Amino acid sequence: MAKKIQSIRGMNDLLPSESALWQYLEQTVANVLGRYGYQEIRFPIVEQTELFKRSIGEVTDIVEKEMYTFADRNDESITLRPEGTACCVRACLQHGLLDNQQVQRLWYAGPMFRYEKPQKGRLRQFHQIGVESFGMASADIDAEMIILTARLWQQLGVSDALTLELNSIGSLEARAAYKEALVAYLSARVDQLDEDSVKRLGTNPLRILDSKSASTQALLNDAPSLTDYLDEQSKQDFAELTGLLDAAGISYRINPRLVRGLDYYNKTVFEWVTDKLGAQGTVCAGGRYDGLVEQLGGKPVPGIGFAMGVERLCLLSEATDNIPTSITAGPDVYVVVAGDKAKLAAVALAEQLRSELPNLKLITHCGGGSFKSQFKKADKSGAAIALVLGDDEAEQGLVNIKWLRAEKEQQTLAQSAVSALLSSELAAELS
Ligand code: ATP
Ligand code: MG
Repeated sequence: MAKKIQSIRGMNDLLPSESALWQYLEQTVANVLGRYGYQEIRFPIVEQTELFKRSIGEVTDIVEKEMYTFADRNDESITLRPEGTACCVRACLQHGLLDNQQVQRLWYAGPMFRYEKPQKGRLRQFHQIGVESFGMASADIDAEMIILTARLWQQLGVSDALTLELNSIGSLEARAAYKEALVAYLSARVDQLDEDSVKRLGTNPLRILDSKSASTQALLNDAPSLTDYLDEQSKQDFAELTGLLDAAGISYRINPRLVRGLDYYNKTVFEWVTDKLGAQGTVCAGGRYDGLVEQLGGKPVPGIGFAMGVERLCLLSEATDNIPTSITAGPDVYVVVAGDKAKLAAVALAEQLRSELPNLKLITHCGGGSFKSQFKKADKSGAAIALVLGDDEAEQGLVNIKWLRAEKEQQTLAQSAVSALLSSELAAELS
């Protein structure tokens, strides 16, 4: 036997037993976003490497060590997208979607690629649903985005498992001033810092704030706080945002150490976190990025967005027992057939029923076999009803109705009467 080929490490197949949950989550998200006026945008999975270097920042984890970067056959450097915001901005600029002060509310869904250490909730090909808006500078759009995610959690039944963490990281200037103060404080105590943080001190000191090291976190307790360095406008906007969230009845925890791993953020940053998924507890994260469009060659246009990890959302739905049983339901009807004439009649009847009952989920037995073995399959499928056709029934235009889950008498009906029977007996399933 030839050797079997395995998938790439950290890149999972989505099996039929899992896809119903994914479809349900994706449809629920798309539906909620549609209700807030967001439209879908799709862009390629590979982009020029330069796009991510220029937007995400050279000294971030993603650009330094997580990107899948290749030379193509023409020796151009291309990268499998590690996130969607930069791609979205690139597409908007390329197609003039941000011209003339247009406002955009957009979303996208699809695979992202990062060379990380694969573990539960952390993959090398993972999936995000991302949401971005452009052209709105004031905090009401920040609030809208957070409010719509809260509605989504409610709809998915996972609200109780998620906490909103919120911060403002201010303007570029405010952050520069804070950076200086933080570096001065930490440089004097460099012997107490963990190894990663020592490196970051020279490259990306703000990232030290979300260090996982307990001793570094302890050291930060007495460090200068970003909040004290915020510019007036950022302070005002943050106050407006929290006011709007209060009015909407959304609770949050202000976390002055929340900074996010990408360079392009300013002002509002937020994360929805859970304690149900171990170390991979951030399900959804985002923030404002007013400088990004200009950084990528456009006129200045304010933007804000977030992305949720679909794998983590699935894990959370499972961990909190929030998978509706209806989404994994089997067919409503299974057609059992024996005989050549019956086969012909079964195809015609199945198609007639599918036309008459658009929500009917019907499986026709294919591949022959005895009635007995077909009934076994019908039973296993989870169908409520088996339609049974032999050559005799076919000739007389009849069909036998057999109940697979209920204690009801088998009955024989004219084929033309089946759709009426199904629509009354399966009213709930077919609605
Ligand atoms: P983390 O701190 O967990 O590494 P991140 O800050 O790198 O997350 P973002 O770039 O903000 O993540 O991506 C948004 C969301 O995408 C995350 O909150 C998470 O749900 C999901 N995500 C990010 N990286 C991965 C990954 N490697 N595998 C699975 N999901 C991921
Ligand atoms: Mg990461």
